[in-house]
Amino acid sequence: MSFYRGKNSISGRRTIRERGGTFIPHLVLILSLFIFALPPLLTAGEITIINKRNSERLGTIRALQAGRYQFVSVASLADMLSISYSKNNKNKQITLEIPHNPITITAISPFIKVGYQIRQIPIDVLYRNGIFYVPIKLFLTALRDVLPFQFEYDASNLELIVKSSLENITGVSIDEKANGILIHIATTEKFSRSDIFTSQRNNWFYIDIYGGRVDTLKSFPVKSRSKKILNVAPIQLSSETARISFHSFINFKEPDIIVNNTDHEVIVSLRTRESISNDLLAELQKEREKWKIDVVVIDPGHGGKDPGAIGRNGLYEKNVTLAIAKKIKSELQRRLDVKVVMTRKRDTFVPLKRRTEIANKAGGKLFISIHIDSNPSRRLHGHTVYFLGQAKTEESRNVAQFENSVIKFEDSQNHYAGLSDASFILAANAQNSYNKESQDFAAIVDNELYKDIKDRSHGVRQAGFYVLYGASMPNILLETAFISNRNDEKKLKNKSFYGSVAKAICDAVIKFKQRYEAEVQ
Ligand SMILES: [Zn+2]
Repeated sequence: MSFYRGKNSISGRRTIRERGGTFIPHLVLILSLFIFALPPLLTAGEITIINKRNSERLGTIRALQAGRYQFVSVASLADMLSISYSKNNKNKQITLEIPHNPITITAISPFIKVGYQIRQIPIDVLYRNGIFYVPIKLFLTALRDVLPFQFEYDASNLELIVKSSLENITGVSIDEKANGILIHIATTEKFSRSDIFTSQRNNWFYIDIYGGRVDTLKSFPVKSRSKKILNVAPIQLSSETARISFHSFINFKEPDIIVNNTDHEVIVSLRTRESISNDLLAELQKEREKWKIDVVVIDPGHGGKDPGAIGRNGLYEKNVTLAIAKKIKSELQRRLDVKVVMTRKRDTFVPLKRRTEIANKAGGKLFISIHIDSNPSRRLHGHTVYFLGQAKTEESRNVAQFENSVIKFEDSQNHYAGLSDASFILAANAQNSYNKESQDFAAIVDNELYKDIKDRSHGVRQAGFYVLYGASMPNILLETAFISNRNDEKKLKNKSFYGSVAKAICDAVIKFKQRYEAEVQ
């Protein structure tokens, strides 16, 4: 198309001039213009990609030089790092399919989309013969932010050294049994049952391991003795979660998961559907009655003398959590036949322990605590969904520590004595027998929020929140956005944002109801 060629050549000239950059190989480039005409790209050579952990050479990709920037093909780099991608020829875009944080690159544009965030690089993406070229150094910065890789690029020696974080998921073996399939996942670290999430969609069965790391730079050992599983693919879903995907046309029942820490393995047993006896049906009916999700408790964080986190422009967490909670309440009542109980309706102080007491007394079937995050790093934005468990990162631990610190406003801290770290988690898990359901609900809420708010998701995490301790129902704590981030703070004053959160929570409650009320049928 002539139109397109025209645009292309404009970009070519811009590339040579380089907006605002200083510029050394002037002569070379001018010469190249004479020799090659457009495009004014020189082959800089082959970049060798090396796996830092074992010095293994992963391969080479061609580098092109334009001004002081070295460009590489996005697709070649993605292939080398085992990242899948798709192209949209109509929009002249290529997308690296990194779950939750896809990176989209548009031909002849300086804008790169990372998740829902737009970043600008100081030079346009080049596009030649259907191939997208990006300035390697700038692009690696974006990749580093969303993948658990470290990159060292040596431009003079044309070497890219890649280090993936140390793997703790080391392989999979699959055995076929009379009524299903047995999957053994080999690990080098201890995991607990609540670290394992499973889901099934479009002929894929997923096992997500929170705190899990796979090394996607090398081949992943799979020993399969089953014809029912057609393909196994490990990916690093986020810096905190590894996913192993199993392709199969079989519809599996809810899996049984066993974590065997002595032998360092996670065992997932997938049963194919089988007939259910009448006795069992009656039993399940009773279960279903018990599981009717008819009372939802919304807990607006902080209140009264406890302001919660405070934004740069003086926004109080306690006011936002109450506004969001009210919106959630009206949305739930409008769309569902459920009773909604609030742990506070006004700007009043309610001790943490009292909040679950209110929930239990009201016969709550779901407990949702609403909070706003705050972080010394003002760059952080987006949401995180927590359920009760041992924190896996310093970051999660700090969040729980801040939320727990509000007990200083309470008259007596005796109820919380001895509830520190590990002992607290043990006590909490014993008391809170809805761990699996809480985990499931957290995952559903995270998904719905990600769909509706279209901002960064920090995923589902675990930490020891006092406010969740003692809830006799599935319970989660939502950090809706970061009050410490300029854009998020603006968003947190916006009624339409409250509406999106309310819609997402309501959708999540509906999905959870469908799953749990229908599961026992
Ligand atoms: Zn809070």
